Amino acid sequence: MTAFEPATITPQGGHYIGGRLVTDDRHAALTVRRPSDGEAYAQLPVADAAMVDRAVEDARRAWTASDWATQPPRERARVLRRWADLVEADVTTLAPLEAVGSTRPVRDARGWDVPFTAEGLRFFAEYADKLGGEVAATRRDNLGLVLTEPYGVVGAITPWNFPLVMVSWKVGAAMAAGNAIVLKPSELTPFSAVRLAELAVQAGVPAGIFNVVQGDGLTTGDALCRHPRVAKMTFTGSTRTGAAIMSACALSGPKPVTLELGGKSPQLVFDDAPDIEKLAAMIAKAITGNAGQVCVAGSRLIVQEGIAEALQARIAEHFAALRPGATWDEGATLPPIISAPQAGRIDDIVSRAVQAGAELQYGGGRYGPDGGAYYRPTLLRGVDAHNPAVVEEIFGPVLTVQTFRDEEEGIALASHEHYGLAAGVHTADIGRALRAMRAIAAGTVWINRYGRSADFVIPTGGYGQSGIGKDLGRQAVEANLRHKSVLIDFAAPQA
Ligand code: NAD
Repeated sequence: MTAFEPATITPQGGHYIGGRLVTDDRHAALTVRRPSDGEAYAQLPVADAAMVDRAVEDARRAWTASDWATQPPRERARVLRRWADLVEADVTTLAPLEAVGSTRPVRDARGWDVPFTAEGLRFFAEYADKLGGEVAATRRDNLGLVLTEPYGVVGAITPWNFPLVMVSWKVGAAMAAGNAIVLKPSELTPFSAVRLAELAVQAGVPAGIFNVVQGDGLTTGDALCRHPRVAKMTFTGSTRTGAAIMSACALSGPKPVTLELGGKSPQLVFDDAPDIEKLAAMIAKAITGNAGQVCVAGSRLIVQEGIAEALQARIAEHFAALRPGATWDEGATLPPIISAPQAGRIDDIVSRAVQAGAELQYGGGRYGPDGGAYYRPTLLRGVDAHNPAVVEEIFGPVLTVQTFRDEEEGIALASHEHYGLAAGVHTADIGRALRAMRAIAAGTVWINRYGRSADFVIPTGGYGQSGIGKDLGRQAVEANLRHKSVLIDFAAPQA
């Protein structure tokens, strides 16, 4: 069943600056395509350095002139909560807008992305008046205070895999802390961010506090990083881009950066793991949800020899049961890859993996409806730690399998040479689970489950090349505050 007619959704490409849509046909435009069928459905302007400057200056003016940073924090919380309510109430507009040009099935956009975005904004709103400073231990006739203050204008750059949710994590944390935002969403999924900004203004966020500049990374993203009035950058995307952003920020500033980057997360399964049927379903979902285009996708199965064959066979059955289809097709269970080039990249890594000795147990290659970039869920076994499919983030539905004999070997295989975003450990032995948890170098470890919950209070972020700093949790709000030290001398004057 078709949930909506994709041709009816024709968003206007524009920036959102100073509380209004700014169209711009003087500059280069990008053609934006629907990954579900490959059709072009919109044009997107590319903000050059002058347009980025206009957005940042507007944000700075709004931050200085409005009371966003200076009002009683509970007032700010009230506006953010109202914004969350408007987002939730806008689901009939937001869900198809999100789904049409992304990899998010509209069913999920309605049931998860939009409500999760709203609830995330509420979570951050609650921190608006809860992160005060400290009184420092000083001599008795002095008072030492450590105050928290917002940075001013925060720049944010986001990826395409969960467009709305990724934006809400960045802007929610930064705005609850009292900052203004200039956001550059991914040029592949640019439109829901503008709707979010419009709703913010309707909720009472002062015009100019939340701005969106559209464009690609090399022109618009780079100009945002280098702008001297952007006091802090926050980024989610690939490790390679994160490094480029960090270096652009350093060369032009420097300024602090938060980086949420790529992953290559293990699913470490011992032969005493409870309920193999449930586990197989969980592991299959963790690599095929959003067609594997999830930073914390469980992409490396590391399984003890005794149950390896049985577990792989069941996972392959789950893979075979998936039906690829458009994000507006209510019956589809596997969404597309974001673009044809990205599907080609996945296929290239799978080919190189096979050349390097991997055995294709299931899948490989594109399939599904014409025009779309669907990739068959794929199981590669017989891989070693140097195989390209183990070393590189694939960002598609490709699971590698490595087997081990004992706990020591399993734990050693679980940590990755470069990445450390998340890990799953599956065993009935709590001591073994905790030993593995301690030993694995990753920012998140899930035991006998896999994937994020609705516990926004648990921060997310990586070790090693998976990133610096955290999204979500108190830590995300704290990262958007700087500290001012105050020392007051009230010693009585000497007679
Ligand atoms: P990407 O790095 O290609 O692009 C991300 C954003 O950066 C886009 O908006 C892009 O336009 C911009 N960009 C590209 N080059 C730039 C430059 N030189 N300067 C400034 N901006 C630039 O990533 P993607 O393909 O959009 O997303 C997939 C990646 O994101 C994966 O690696 C995935 O693991 C990662 N990711 C991480 C998390 C996390 O929480 N750790 C969450 C989601 C996605």
